Amino acid sequence: MREDLHVYDNILQLIGKTPLVKLNKITENFKGEFLAKIESFNPGHSSKDRIALYIIEQAEKNGILKPGNTIVETTSGNTGFSIAMVSIIKGYKCILAVSSKSSKDKIDMLKTMGAKVFVCPANVPAEDPRSYYQVAKRIHEETEGSVYINQYFNELNIEAHFQSTGPEIWKQTEGKITHLVACSGTGGTISGTSRFLKQQNPEIEIIGIDAFGSVLKKYHETKEFDEKEIYPYRIEGLGKNLIPGATDFDSIDRFIKVSDEDAAHTARELANTEGMFLGYTSGAAMQGLKQLNAEGAFDENSKVVVIFPDHGSRYMSKIYSNDWMNDQGFFDFQNEDKTEDIKA
Ligand code: PMP
Repeated sequence: MREDLHVYDNILQLIGKTPLVKLNKITENFKGEFLAKIESFNPGHSSKDRIALYIIEQAEKNGILKPGNTIVETTSGNTGFSIAMVSIIKGYKCILAVSSKSSKDKIDMLKTMGAKVFVCPANVPAEDPRSYYQVAKRIHEETEGSVYINQYFNELNIEAHFQSTGPEIWKQTEGKITHLVACSGTGGTISGTSRFLKQQNPEIEIIGIDAFGSVLKKYHETKEFDEKEIYPYRIEGLGKNLIPGATDFDSIDRFIKVSDEDAAHTARELANTEGMFLGYTSGAAMQGLKQLNAEGAFDENSKVVVIFPDHGSRYMSKIYSNDWMNDQGFFDFQNEDKTEDIKA
């Protein structure tokens, strides 16, 4: 491996060390400086590469994983892709139970990466035997020598970010970061990064992004699980209908909620203001930043890092499809589509 020449032994050596890129036009009238941690620079195009590699290597170290064994997981797509990628290089079988809410593109990608995929209904309770949690659990129990990554309840998910994302951000900002804004799904990213940053400087404010239709914000504020908070929403990978064990709620100062519609428009705005073609939750994180700025959360001395979790190519049939946007009632296709067809 010659990292100085950008020559690597395999694709896994490129995981992490993602860039921090200044936001310019989209934050033009904001107070403070805004830096985006662009996780789509990982080889699997998302932050989930970090946890896949870390958790699998910990299982190898502990003698749990042996060559040829099966790795099982529940995933909205990104973690599955990362586990499949790591499995190919390291020689493991990969079985994934995914939500029917995941885009077809994501499911096709997982299959391309050699995974066996079970598509499970999205809007059933976690305890239902058809939910992707229960399906993965059953496969794990039925498959001898299998390892269940269990990202929602695995402390190693937090540790992966404590070991990589946190130190990277601290170094990249030369210890000057004042705020971290990050999406919360499993909670691994925000909790692990926060634990590291707060260890360096407890004053850093950590703000989680949650979705309308998810229980996280209310639970953080009341420590009560309120079922009334739960209803279907469109953003994939953000928010939750249960309390994830991989979320350290004490490491998060507060949550704010963003809407499906605002997040979708803001993702598009990131593309056409900053040239950043990113996923739906990146739009959600940026939308959160806008709301925070509007409520006066920042000042001239703020140095804010926002984590953008994945790449836009995974959302072509959703937020980057005018038809899809129109179907959701997010905009008027007739009036807003700028394409012109030249007749043959
Ligand atoms: N964005 C996307 C696209 C994701 O897939 C996830 C993971 N579910 C997140 C954000 C949230 O990250 P975390 O699970 O570490 O909270």
